[in-house]
Amino acid sequence: MSTLKTLTPLFNLDDVPAPRHTGNGFTGQDVISVSQFDRPRLDYIFTRAREMRAMVKRVGASDLLKGFVLACLFYEPSTRTSASFIAAMERLGGSVIPITQGVQFSSVSKGETLADTVRTLEQYADVIVLRHPEIGSAQLAADYASVPVINAGDGAGEHPTQALLDLFTIQDELGTIDGLKIAMVGDLRYGRTVHSLTKLLLQYKVSLRFVSPEILRLPLTIMNEVIDAGLDVRETHDVADVIENADVLYVTRVQKERFSDLAQYEEVKDHYEITPELMARAKQKMIVMHPLPRVGEIHYAVDADPRAAYFRQVQNGMYIRMALLAAVLGRA
Ligand code: ASP
Repeated sequence: MSTLKTLTPLFNLDDVPAPRHTGNGFTGQDVISVSQFDRPRLDYIFTRAREMRAMVKRVGASDLLKGFVLACLFYEPSTRTSASFIAAMERLGGSVIPITQGVQFSSVSKGETLADTVRTLEQYADVIVLRHPEIGSAQLAADYASVPVINAGDGAGEHPTQALLDLFTIQDELGTIDGLKIAMVGDLRYGRTVHSLTKLLLQYKVSLRFVSPEILRLPLTIMNEVIDAGLDVRETHDVADVIENADVLYVTRVQKERFSDLAQYEEVKDHYEITPELMARAKQKMIVMHPLPRVGEIHYAVDADPRAAYFRQVQNGMYIRMALLAAVLGRA
């Protein structure tokens, strides 16, 4: 007499990713610009990022994104953004197609267009993270891709995920954003992190100080948005004008790769250096931030100052990107 065997299911239904319409407002969406984030959405991502941090500190990893694949497509150099997206995906149990070692190893070197590359990658992946030298490239990729595209920097345009982690860091370190005096220093013209962070800050009651050499002033279009938002704003060439009152000193690198005239770059590249002497004039409760890499704008001797927040800022990038990946993949 034959006995019936109990069949073991081939897969556990609990492991099957949820459909893309479970709605936290982010599910299935592209992340192209900070203009997509109002305060409730920011609060949502920040809350999720804190949960991610608690989870990582407690157990290191989870299975939240098990079965999902991220394609990381970088046409420009990156250390933190690419590594943190990869770490974020892996800590949530997902996997990564990394095209981050230079697209010279992909079919881009054979002349493939961005549109075709993203339409190829979406055959394998559930989400695409893109860095590209041209302003508008992330939107173009999103227009072609049916999976979510996350902008990891489009030339001198925007860097929305950096701005999210910057804002999160400010809130985390100082307990608030409203009421702060925030000074941005360096290359305000080409620095996409400055552009995105400034636009996000328009939603808060902050005072903004922009410190740059004349040729690297904030683009007029963004300055007009700041003025229209009614914020207290001033521009100067000198860090000494802002150091005593700043709650946040957001320092940036002069973006050499955006200059067509390298002689002009040489003229401005060493304009600022934050030193311990300068920090001695700053408030006791303030922070120094930098999106990194730094190439001389912050002296190494400042690193030991508890107000130097730039490496804590780096760590926050992973939690923010974990929160974002979970949100766009509908695993909120
Ligand atoms: N890592 C930042 C960016 O990709 C800042 C910089 O490169 O200076 O925009």
